[in-house]
Amino acid sequence: MTAEVLLETTGLARAFGPHAAVRGIDLRVGRGECLALLGLNGAGKTTTLEMLCGVLAPGAGTIRVAGHDLLAEPRAARQCLGYLPETPPLQPDARVIDYLHWAAVVRRIPRSRRRHLVERTLERCCLGGVRRRVIRNLSRGYQQRLGIAQAIVHQPPLVVLDEPTVGLDPRQVQGVRALIGDLRRDHGVILSTHVLADVEAACDRVAILHDGRIIHEQAVAPAADGDRRYRLRFDRPPRPDAVQALDGVLAAEAEGEQSLRVVVRDEAALDGIVAQAAHGGWRLRELAREVRTLEQVFLACTAPRPEEAA
Ligand code: ATP
Repeated sequence: MTAEVLLETTGLARAFGPHAAVRGIDLRVGRGECLALLGLNGAGKTTTLEMLCGVLAPGAGTIRVAGHDLLAEPRAARQCLGYLPETPPLQPDARVIDYLHWAAVVRRIPRSRRRHLVERTLERCCLGGVRRRVIRNLSRGYQQRLGIAQAIVHQPPLVVLDEPTVGLDPRQVQGVRALIGDLRRDHGVILSTHVLADVEAACDRVAILHDGRIIHEQAVAPAADGDRRYRLRFDRPPRPDAVQALDGVLAAEAEGEQSLRVVVRDEAALDGIVAQAAHGGWRLRELAREVRTLEQVFLACTAPRPEEAA
């Protein structure tokens, strides 16, 4: 990843009594990237996000937010992130504009910049039309937008969203996904979900979380590109960035010691990879179309073990 790293965790873990909810998670999110944590109910998504945001103390591991160690410099690290919890922390009796001003104060935005940032956030989250409305009277979709607005009013580099589309109707879902797409242009975003369509619509990478562990991670290609994924096996594998730099290659990542998974714009890009493999002495041994959809990968990864299914 060449982008500025905004979130880095190593060995993140947390237990509740004897139950290990999160068991050693390593994550990286760069600016301009949206990472999805995808998992079944109880996989450990919320626990992970709460630790990232300083809401829950980790049992083990390190967390760096925009270069600040969350445990050693909590104030600096938390100022660099915005968090939408599963239930947005709204004040039902407040008006939208007053609540956002309050959020700006809590986030220590200097008085001189407050009005400007609140206005910018209202516009960005398409809340201008409801600015004077009382929050409890807003639809669920607008309340969710406001939840995101309070998370980004101080323009944090990293935005953390816990199940941002849960409980919304299809049009509201579309609106929130579009907002996430807008956010990821100049922030880093990490979100949790169990909705595969959210991942495909709004995210660049997905980490599948199961039983407190990341058991699979991959780049997300738009659904329409599902048939342009390939797995390449080499005797002397190149670095993924050397392949990603080739014409028409949209994504490349290592899989195990010898293989790379790539997403290409069209089949012509494969000619470029094959030519560069010969030129660079990578010894290409296998090139196969990746047929598994994200849904298939997810279902395979999270299938109950025989003793659980019984
Ligand atoms: P969901 O999609 O249902 O929100 P999740 O992936 O966010 O699930 P978590 O809420 O992180 O999962 O929970 C992970 C595990 O930790 C679950 O088994 C849950 O019951 C347990 N757990 C979470 N919080 C607590 C708590 N405060 N006390 C005890 N157990 C907890």
